[in-house]
Amino acid sequence: MSKWERFELQEFLTANPKMRLTYYDDFSITIEGEYNINAQMEGFHSIHECYSLKIEFPEGYPKTIPVVIETKSVIPRDLDHHTYVDGPFCLGSDLKIKGILSESPNVSDFAGKILDPFLYSISYKIKYHMFPNGDLAHGEAGLIDDYERIFNVKGKLSVLGVLRALSKRKRVANKLPCPCACGKRIGVCDFRFSLPKWRELDKRRWFKKYLANAFVPIEVTKRKRRRA
Ligand SMILES: [Zn+2]
Repeated sequence: MSKWERFELQEFLTANPKMRLTYYDDFSITIEGEYNINAQMEGFHSIHECYSLKIEFPEGYPKTIPVVIETKSVIPRDLDHHTYVDGPFCLGSDLKIKGILSESPNVSDFAGKILDPFLYSISYKIKYHMFPNGDLAHGEAGLIDDYERIFNVKGKLSVLGVLRALSKRKRVANKLPCPCACGKRIGVCDFRFSLPKWRELDKRRWFKKYLANAFVPIEVTKRKRRRA
């Protein structure tokens, strides 16, 4: 059974008849076509929209995060709409998405748990000029907000402290100052018990690379992307 059968690709295509496979191999797939979103958040208007999407499930999925591009540029490609100038949606922090995908790697789960909430918020913003869940911070501030929430720490330094700990062997990480601001070392604070579940999401070298690249200012990121 191929990885994509296991991740219930066929079920997704059946449920979304206007989307089709435009690339397929054992490692990666691309799905393109009209994608319907029908969603409502309690206390807010419902959204019924159709977007032309190109969704790439890359090699390494579900550890590597899918890239989604809205091909007709109906959604403005700017930070206010959480969309990079060269097209891809900014679906949320990598670790949040990796966490969801590690528990629910099916193609439909990616759509339902990550893509639909994103498209709902962005469609809402375009139609009603506000986000239903409050104006999300974007760029680096958005990332830090996200990580403060999921790591349960306060401030950029603490967020970076957690990522740094995750990029090192447990024995080495235990000697670092604890990101929970207790003033102790990680090794003697209960905070250390919250780290294994993040360690499970990827290898130390992924965290190291992520730490080096994720927090550069967005202008630098764009320039780097263009040059690449
Ligand atoms: Zn602590």
